[in-house]
Amino acid sequence: TSFEEIQMTEIISNNIALARYDRPTPVQKYAIPIIMSGRDLMACAQTGSGKTAAFLVPILNQMYERGPQAFKIPNNSRTYKRKHYPLGLVLAPTRELAIQIYDEARKFSYRSRLRPCVVYGGANFGDQTRDLDRGCHLLVATPGRLVEMLERGKLSLECCRFLVLDEADRMLDMGFEPQIRRIVEQDSMPPTGERQTLMFSATFPKEIQILARDFLDNYIFLAI
Ligand code: AMP
Repeated sequence: TSFEEIQMTEIISNNIALARYDRPTPVQKYAIPIIMSGRDLMACAQTGSGKTAAFLVPILNQMYERGPQAFKIPNNSRTYKRKHYPLGLVLAPTRELAIQIYDEARKFSYRSRLRPCVVYGGANFGDQTRDLDRGCHLLVATPGRLVEMLERGKLSLECCRFLVLDEADRMLDMGFEPQIRRIVEQDSMPPTGERQTLMFSATFPKEIQILARDFLDNYIFLAI
């Protein structure tokens, strides 16, 4: 299988080639068509399996094809307290992983006019919100900092059509379940059915099964 067999918009295919990805890894081969079909997904895959591109490529492709206008982002750029309305949100357990996902997202969104951003704890809040002010279609975040942004009124999830929980088992091990539930069960977050939700986890214990039941809608289970 090659990436050419997966029907994608030209800019995204070019960016895959620029990243020198010739052949999809197994998780990419199976997950990309499922995600492009619009289904929710629970995937068991390890770090190093290529899972990051497996979710970023189809999400960016769908965002690009629909065009940012299709998402009806409220324009409040003139208001004093500017709010941000990402179209997609990726939650990751650590700053390091969040930055890695963001770096991949930058590669795949090159020349697409889609702008990824990353926010994580332990860094300057103002610098991160100033970066969001330049536009943010896909937000990669650690759960604690995201809750803080929601509480300070910097962010609304009402346009969020794609939600990814990456390394979900690690997020639970680190004690992030309350923050994750705060985020996903936010009033502004579209309900299942109006968003596409993807969960990635190396393991599939009871706690992850419960999260999958609560957050996913009629999902496909993929084990690599
Ligand atoms: P991940 O499991 O997403 O953290 O990816 C592990 C590493 O493999 C990263 O450095 C990716 O850039 C790289 N990678 C992912 N998919 C491919 C691919 N299809 N071809 C070549 N390298 C890849």
